Amino acid sequence: MVRGGVHKSTPLNAPGKQTASSSLELSAHARSILEQCGLSVMAAASVAVQRALGKRIVPPLVVILGATGTGKSKLAIELGRRLQGEIISADSMQVYKGLDIITNKVTPEEQAQCPHHMISFVDPLVSSYTVVDFRNRVLSLIEDLHHQEKLPVIVGGTNYYIESILWKVLLDTKQKSGTDIKRKLEIMGGPELHKRLKEVDPDMAAMLHPNDTRKIARSLQVYQETGIQHSRLLEEQQKQEGGDGLGGPLRFTDPCIFWLHSNMDALDKRLDERVDEMLSSGLIEELKDFHQRFNEKKIQENSQDYQHGIFQSIGFKEFHEYLTAGADVSQEEREELKMKSVEALKQATRRYARKQNKWVRNRFLKRPGTYVPPVYGLDVTDVSCWEQTVLHPALDILNCLRKGEQPPVEPIRVEGEGPRNKRSHHVCELCDKVIIGDMEWTAHLKSKNHQHHVRKRRNAEESTEHQQDVESNLASAPKYPKQIVKRLV
Ligand SMILES: [Zn+2]
Repeated sequence: MVRGGVHKSTPLNAPGKQTASSSLELSAHARSILEQCGLSVMAAASVAVQRALGKRIVPPLVVILGATGTGKSKLAIELGRRLQGEIISADSMQVYKGLDIITNKVTPEEQAQCPHHMISFVDPLVSSYTVVDFRNRVLSLIEDLHHQEKLPVIVGGTNYYIESILWKVLLDTKQKSGTDIKRKLEIMGGPELHKRLKEVDPDMAAMLHPNDTRKIARSLQVYQETGIQHSRLLEEQQKQEGGDGLGGPLRFTDPCIFWLHSNMDALDKRLDERVDEMLSSGLIEELKDFHQRFNEKKIQENSQDYQHGIFQSIGFKEFHEYLTAGADVSQEEREELKMKSVEALKQATRRYARKQNKWVRNRFLKRPGTYVPPVYGLDVTDVSCWEQTVLHPALDILNCLRKGEQPPVEPIRVEGEGPRNKRSHHVCELCDKVIIGDMEWTAHLKSKNHQHHVRKRRNAEESTEHQQDVESNLASAPKYPKQIVKRLV
């Protein structure tokens, strides 16, 4: 059982610990906002309770990461059953009622094996459920579980939902109207918002692309609600003890993180098979029913929006054409649309799996800083020996952590290529484009579009220089293309 264990001296989030903000002249208001996002009252209460009880749940939580289709739920249930755990889903689509198949919810049979939380409780027509709502509920849930000496097992899922639990990354401006303000702002469009942001928070504006409407609106909203620049608040958060270039400090000391990874070919095959399984367990009926109940009217009113709420689910928008095909569409065409949608779903699922792995690599394995939690890799490629290769190693690791011993396996760590600036501002004059981020800039320089402009410019210069050569009769004019390209980029 995971309980008792060593009583570690000072938890990271112990109350009274001074943050770096004391050295900065911040208003009391700003400090209170930082405290709200940094040191949650609940976390502090939880520490107090643990002290009073004289014991702690060790590790305080288990997090199971992994791309879709790697068997996270299965491991979570097996661990939960054996270790008095309860499972918390960290999936932004699973919080909604409906679309159970396409969003991969655990079945009622699986739920009966171990209690699950954060599944199917938000009305599908609600589009204002946010990661802040999620975080607040999960933090109090974790506190409850700790009271009951139960182990919280977090399964995810959605990147920023998991990050909001592990790190103090979110700014909580505590305004009920928050989403309204943001929506209203978004309507104005990126370029206009960008102009406004430039006036109130030029640092943040320089880090955001003028078309990144959502993020610009968010920064303006933060400014409107707090009177403090968003860039300033983020900087403060990163400066807190244990913070790094990606956000604030860890919320819980020594969480146990597993990453289920697989050979990609094997995973792709499994993902395709899973889509086929979804189809045979009634996916089409589920989508049709959901479409009729929640989407049809919106489409008639021309207010359909696949960008918010449950309508963003992978697999729903891919069936748009099929679901909205009119009565005049023949059975044959309808079948064809269905096949196309299924193919699109398979593609989107593979893309999503890659995105999830990339996130684990960038935000965990390559994370800069000194407070990086260890991530234990478990290879799920061969499911035929799952107990030996996945379950037992996971149990061994947890057992060691509980006893305060070093687990027999080393956590995975990938050395990053040095900190990259994700928010650097670049202007390509050749293409007349604004590009944010070093990686994006490198990609742009290699892009076909950019190369096309480089060639165009080079040809133009060649002909001018050729003209000049002829005119000045310089037979020994240098051959230049390479240098010119360099100068241009
Ligand atoms: Zn360019």
